[in-house]
Amino acid sequence: MNADPAAQHRLLDLAVVDAELTRAAHRRRSLPELAEVELAEADLLSARDLLVAAQTAVSDLDRDIRKLEAEIDQVRAREDRDRGLLDSGSISSGKQLEDLQHELATLRRRQTVLEDDLLEVMERREATAADLERGRAALAGIEQRSLEAHRRRDEALAELRSTEEHGQQERHALIGELPADLVALYERIRARNGTGAALLREHRCGACRLELDRTAIGHLREAAPDEVVRCEECGVVLVRTSESGL
Ligand SMILES: [Zn+2]
Repeated sequence: MNADPAAQHRLLDLAVVDAELTRAAHRRRSLPELAEVELAEADLLSARDLLVAAQTAVSDLDRDIRKLEAEIDQVRAREDRDRGLLDSGSISSGKQLEDLQHELATLRRRQTVLEDDLLEVMERREATAADLERGRAALAGIEQRSLEAHRRRDEALAELRSTEEHGQQERHALIGELPADLVALYERIRARNGTGAALLREHRCGACRLELDRTAIGHLREAAPDEVVRCEECGVVLVRTSESGL
């Protein structure tokens, strides 16, 4: 194939743009900001789970407290009633009196047990409520971190998008200037090995870095300037300039 040496030279600009686009695509797949967002979202989920567990524990303990308080009130009411009966002097039977005193003693013991239980449950409630507060503070911190991670990811993606758009525009413009058959060749080679054209510098292919042997250099020296020549090793279009050492 033949192509104007100036057009061949423009292939190098196209290769630079394509390399930038390839780097941008790779960066899009491996953005550290994406992993940060994923991590923050996982942390958010587990912090929310912990918070829900602590909230449930606090409301369970509140229910236990209400139950114990109601029971204590009942026992106290019964005690008051019994004491009232005792103080009223209306009971004359010794057996009845003895039963009443026995019941009062039982109620007082029950009261003590219930009050001890209540104290223990209230202490547990206090500790759990402190866990809940810590959980809320931790969640707020993680939410903040997640917001920042999302912002950084969006910024990185916006920057990539702008690089890609700019690259695509440049690519489009360059392709518009180049002969269609040269572009088609370049695209075929690029689809196969990632790079379509490279500068031959000091006898060395700019794509695979292989140094051409004496025979290959001899062929290149004989080739007309508008002949499109390829690297024997990697197949890219070799663009010859004053740097090529020919
Ligand atoms: Zn090569």
